[in-house]
Amino acid sequence: MQRRHLLISLTTTLLPATMHAAEPGRAPLVQTLSTPGELPLLLTVPHDGEAFIGLPPARTRGTVLRDLGTRPLAEQTALALARLTGGQRPALVVALAHRRYVDVNRSEAEGTESDDAVPAWRSYHAEVAAQVADLRKRFPNGALMVDVHGQGQVPDTIFRGTRNGQTARALIKRLGPVALQGPHSLTGELAARGYTVAPLMQDTLSAEDPRFSGGHTVATYGSHQPEGIDAIQLEFGSALRQRQARLPDDLAAALLAFMRYAGYLPANVSARQRSSPGRLTA
Ligand SMILES: [Zn+2]
Repeated sequence: MQRRHLLISLTTTLLPATMHAAEPGRAPLVQTLSTPGELPLLLTVPHDGEAFIGLPPARTRGTVLRDLGTRPLAEQTALALARLTGGQRPALVVALAHRRYVDVNRSEAEGTESDDAVPAWRSYHAEVAAQVADLRKRFPNGALMVDVHGQGQVPDTIFRGTRNGQTARALIKRLGPVALQGPHSLTGELAARGYTVAPLMQDTLSAEDPRFSGGHTVATYGSHQPEGIDAIQLEFGSALRQRQARLPDDLAAALLAFMRYAGYLPANVSARQRSSPGRLTA
């Protein structure tokens, strides 16, 4: 079978990055974009890939649509974080293969339906696992992963998914459920900036919407796992991704405020942050 390759633009302001390629003869040029960072934060983008990875058969089960706009959202949020911190960025891992061929937020068995799709799945998880291990080593007091998704069912709402607190077990153990759902939680900081979040803010843990309560990635790398870190899935509504130009700046500010409150950020980053001209107030 003749294989076609789609040229992928790898131009990014976040370089240097690791381009995780497939083994020779297995089609894809590049499957995962992985960029190291300085902050105790990893942003992952599983569902905004547009590459055809050598055209394996399309998946016949599960969702095959992209979470459009989540890659630029994560990349712009990373740039905004750098602006707010004097140049410190989050790590970033982006799946480049189209979800039609591989879903990296499912198990390998569920997310791939042909052998040709397996290298793309493994490439993504090798990079995520490596970044998580690196964060654990550099930030023994805790680090955060945010898995960035989009949903179209409730266009103005941001859903949190932690498997009802399970994937942020270390955070909850340290500060209580208020850290996941109170006014200084990540969704609390987003709510303070005018966004509708679900579950609603309160000090006790309430049930997450079962449609968006956390997929394979947060379940694999969350802090309930021996080698995990606190992991929060965020599902951004389609109207927010299409029309809310402030979203990356607001997300970056919310992330910084939350990371400072939750103790992920070392003191020197907090000091720089307070002296920066960003939108944050102490
Ligand atoms: Zn998604």
